[in-house]
Amino acid sequence: MFIIDAHLDLSMNALEWNRDLRQPVTLINEREKELSDKPDRGKATVSLPELRKGNIGLVVATQIARYVAPGNTLPGWHSPEQAWAQTQGQLAWYKAMEDAGEMVQIKDAQTLESHIAHWNDGNVNDIKPIGYILSLEGADSIVTLNHLERAWQYGLRAVGPAHYGPGRYAQGTNATGKLSSAGRELLKEMERMNFILDATHLCDDSFWEAMDLFKGHVWASHNNVRTLVNHNRQFSDEQIKELVNRGAVIGGVLDAWMMVPNWERGQSDPPSMNCKLEVMIDHADHICQLAGNALHVAIGSDLDGAFGREQCPYDLETIADLQKFPSLFLKRGYSSMDVDNIMHGNWLRFLRNAWKA
Ligand SMILES: [Zn+2]
Repeated sequence: MFIIDAHLDLSMNALEWNRDLRQPVTLINEREKELSDKPDRGKATVSLPELRKGNIGLVVATQIARYVAPGNTLPGWHSPEQAWAQTQGQLAWYKAMEDAGEMVQIKDAQTLESHIAHWNDGNVNDIKPIGYILSLEGADSIVTLNHLERAWQYGLRAVGPAHYGPGRYAQGTNATGKLSSAGRELLKEMERMNFILDATHLCDDSFWEAMDLFKGHVWASHNNVRTLVNHNRQFSDEQIKELVNRGAVIGGVLDAWMMVPNWERGQSDPPSMNCKLEVMIDHADHICQLAGNALHVAIGSDLDGAFGREQCPYDLETIADLQKFPSLFLKRGYSSMDVDNIMHGNWLRFLRNAWKA
């Protein structure tokens, strides 16, 4: 089955983890055997061949760079200009993958439809490029609103105003407070240019203010449910209802701490916490029960988003195992039409609507 994954930090893996994502995951991990600079060394699950193996032909891929003000202890750059420069390096990697025929940028209805047709042409022998929709996770690197315009020109189509902590435009996970005045301007410009607003990572105050102000298309690329794992990073039922009312699609995440309660980073391990793929379906099902249908859930795995096999479902060896989801959803009582929608149809409907002429 064709699968769309709405959240992968591919260029971050390429440039900060030094992973050549054209390689099979086994070779990437082999090469990291001796490294211990990051907790997920040798535990990668994502590479371009694995995406092809899993029939995951379209992804939302990030640019990501944080600005930190003095006193902010999160990792990040000391000026927005440095953060911008990092995102431009990440863009250069995506472009290099396009030059190599490995990836192709999807940025409008036309590129979307021709890409989907290519992946459904029945020719299993050609090596198809992975389609990517460019998204910015945390908007700190947008130095001025003019940079937002430039970003649209190079293909950026979705923006999450915040990531972890306080941001220049909005407050993110583990922070509190509303949008800054620059953040309100940013949303206005995003709406004018038809950027998709990614509600993921907005803290509650910023989330509700953004929902009030922004009249454009909203999705949540990678988000689970607060009722099942109580943390401000997760959506409350009220937030889920608001997103459903706005026609949003919410991508289920495969980061263990957002799947099962009481996960202790660096201590817990997936089998003993019973963290398996089916747990993501509990989160998706909660959203479907609130919505009364299966039209607002999908996949935004976040795999290799600064964690690897040590912190994801134990029955997932590589991202190709997303292909286990269709039968798991069927087993849960979902219809085959529901499953088609969850695996790709909901993201496609959202994009076709957002990008219609
Ligand atoms: Zn994230």
